[in-house]
Amino acid sequence: MNFHVLTLFPDMVRQGLDTSIIGRAMKEKRISLETVNIRDFSDNKHNRVDDYPYGGGAGMVMQAEPVYRAYCSVAEKSLAAGKGRKPRCIYLTPQGKVFNQTMVEDFAQEEELIFLCGHYEGIDERVLEEVVTDYVSIGDYVLTGGELASMVMIDAVSRFVPGVLSNEESAQFESMQDNLLEYPHFTRPETWHDKKVPKVLLTGDHNKIEAWRWEQSLRRTKERRPDLMEKNKTLTVAYFSPTE
Ligand code: SAM
Repeated sequence: MNFHVLTLFPDMVRQGLDTSIIGRAMKEKRISLETVNIRDFSDNKHNRVDDYPYGGGAGMVMQAEPVYRAYCSVAEKSLAAGKGRKPRCIYLTPQGKVFNQTMVEDFAQEEELIFLCGHYEGIDERVLEEVVTDYVSIGDYVLTGGELASMVMIDAVSRFVPGVLSNEESAQFESMQDNLLEYPHFTRPETWHDKKVPKVLLTGDHNKIEAWRWEQSLRRTKERRPDLMEKNKTLTVAYFSPTE
């Protein structure tokens, strides 16, 4: 999987991702990350890429042309490399569809993804109309730029790239699978601050452990994310006949 990030702050993205599991995946060439500095595509002698908004108002707007050129530098390379079509181009924006696990799995099917990070008030609408295929928000709040949002997406999508997670890291069950939150985890010592590990986890009885985890998942989802339970009526029924 090749990620391309169009940004005014390439170091922020590179440094943010070049560590731990994602950093290792890059070293092992399971994923690649190209950061493209939009400023390099400015034709202004001071490398400016923003200007005042038509109609007035606060803040600056990123101009269409440098963003378009930065996008073309990636999209055309990808076409020239024999990919049948231009990669999907995701604009990180609070006005997008809120990112979720279904979207992670959808994006993970792609070979290439372009992330377009806005700054200031955002980007001239005309270039967005020409290049963007997906508008994605990472939550209902406003960030100063799209860089952190692109990193969140790259991290989540990378977990689905084969070999990025080692066997130990790739849990069989994770939160969000089947609209459920994961059960609680415990590790040594057996007693900590007078709190004991639930007895069932020490029995070695895998059927019992699995039943307990299932029950815990349902309970936790009901308490913390009732909206997820609503999405899955079968689970709601299961919760009301628990296996204590
Ligand atoms: N004026 C814009 C609006 O009201 O929709 C917000 C601009 S925001 C200050 C600057 C940039 O941060 C945006 O262009 C976008 O790339 C990014 N951004 C801000 N909040 C975001 C969010 N919740 N999800 C993804 N990207 C976000």
